[in-house]
Amino acid sequence: TLSGRTALVTGSTSGIGLGIAKMLAAAGARVMLNGFGSADDITTAQREVAKAGNTAEPPHSAADLSDPAQIRDMCAEAEQRLGQVDILVNNAGIQFTSPIAEFPDNKWDAIIALNLSANFHAIKALLPGMTARNWGRIVNIASIHGIVASPEKVAYVAAKHGVIGMTRTVALELAQGQVTCNAICPGFVRTPLAEKQVTALAAKHGITEEAALKDFLLARQPSKRWVEVEEVARMALYLCGPDSGSVNGAALSIDGGWSAA
Ligand code: NAD
Repeated sequence: TLSGRTALVTGSTSGIGLGIAKMLAAAGARVMLNGFGSADDITTAQREVAKAGNTAEPPHSAADLSDPAQIRDMCAEAEQRLGQVDILVNNAGIQFTSPIAEFPDNKWDAIIALNLSANFHAIKALLPGMTARNWGRIVNIASIHGIVASPEKVAYVAAKHGVIGMTRTVALELAQGQVTCNAICPGFVRTPLAEKQVTALAAKHGITEEAALKDFLLARQPSKRWVEVEEVARMALYLCGPDSGSVNGAALSIDGGWSAA
């Protein structure tokens, strides 16, 4: 369904981004990766994507997306190496938790820069090409925390609410063409980012990781199970494909019922 299309997936050396890159490659898109990790992590991600797509190893950009200049360079590199960028998945993100009175200023700045502003800079850089060709798909990985809040996540919740607002604005500006912009709002997905929170909660409360998972994370998720990376990737694939042209400005939940509560 995506043969002939090209995609840039940010934060795709791990977790949800890697899952989406593999899914888009399997559907026939040529992909460019981005994200941190050891040389081994990056090679492994490249091999997994190549295997999923039955193609050569995809290019990778090590750009730090908390820096707008590096975002612009990465987008120019993607257009050069892929020929053009038809699909942009803004996925890179970080988390930090603390009560607001102790929330470090530098953590606020880092989360807003990566989880919110990076989406703006990448969209701004790649939109002209999409609108000139009158086809494009922008998918922002927001969160259930773009729709509801949780304590001790002030920067993350603010950034993700902002991502949904940005998604809606972009969608309205593009409403009459064939470029769409949508957000995906996952609940807790089994990835390193979420598993780290379980480890931290277990340590903080002196309980087992199993108990922390049950009490703190899945207590919010009515399904009482993790959302799996592949489930999120399939939703992204739909939004990047040819059948979703009338889906625009949506914030689609994939949260085991969390947002229904
Ligand atoms: P992860 O930690 O497994 O992956 C994050 C990716 O972002 C990695 O590839 C990492 O190298 C990259 N990254 C981190 N900082 C970066 C930077 N400054 N510049 C470029 N890349 C950077 O996390 P994940 O759980 O897969 O999360 C991916 C996205 O999904 C995030 O936006 C996160 O907020 C969102 N999300 C995750 C969950 C969850 O439960 N896991 C739920 C809702 C939303």
